[in-house]
Amino acid sequence: MNLILFGPPAAGKGTQAKRLVAERGMVQLSTGDMLRAARASGSELGQRVAAVMDAGGLVTDEIVIALIEERLPEAEAAGGAIFDGFPRTVAQAEALDAMLAKRGRKIDRVVRLKVDEDGLLARVAKRFAEEGRPDDNPETFKVRLAAYNAQTAPLLPYYAAQGKLAEVDGMGTVQEVAAGIDGALGSVPA
Ligand code: AMP
Repeated sequence: MNLILFGPPAAGKGTQAKRLVAERGMVQLSTGDMLRAARASGSELGQRVAAVMDAGGLVTDEIVIALIEERLPEAEAAGGAIFDGFPRTVAQAEALDAMLAKRGRKIDRVVRLKVDEDGLLARVAKRFAEEGRPDDNPETFKVRLAAYNAQTAPLLPYYAAQGKLAEVDGMGTVQEVAAGIDGALGSVPA
């Protein structure tokens, strides 16, 4: 099964993806994690994306599409991928559909974690205090949220038109959100 966890930054996608990895043996494909790893390694790619990430903007489609393509065989071998933070633009979504189709695969379900912006701001302030991720600082987070609303939210009708979109309340406890996601995946064969 290939699943997209969809929602604004700090909606809880990473937490839920890690749980699904532990419970279902799927592979989490987080472009944010991949980009942070590239930066930590000091690679040329890491240096190229640093400024955009620190400003809260989106790196180019070309870069993230290539990162995902590289990891698809591994996800297939594990029985499926959880896409976390990808796709974030219509061009990325179209590229993902094409890459999967070329391999005889498809997206089975898109689970949108619905959250309210005030709740998110509070959640991120807490995460910033605990983890100190530079792009969680309140000013940069607002830019990330604006990027989501302008460039990523328009994907919702794209997936709704394919009949793949399920919505789950993302403001509950981790366990409540997990139960909502499991319910949304219930009708998809493993
Ligand atoms: P995240 O951890 O998913 O919030 O990603 C952190 C940052 O990495 C984002 O604010 C973007 O700068 C960059 N990034 C991650 N995924 C993507 C993507 N699919 N497209 C463009 N930029 C991305």
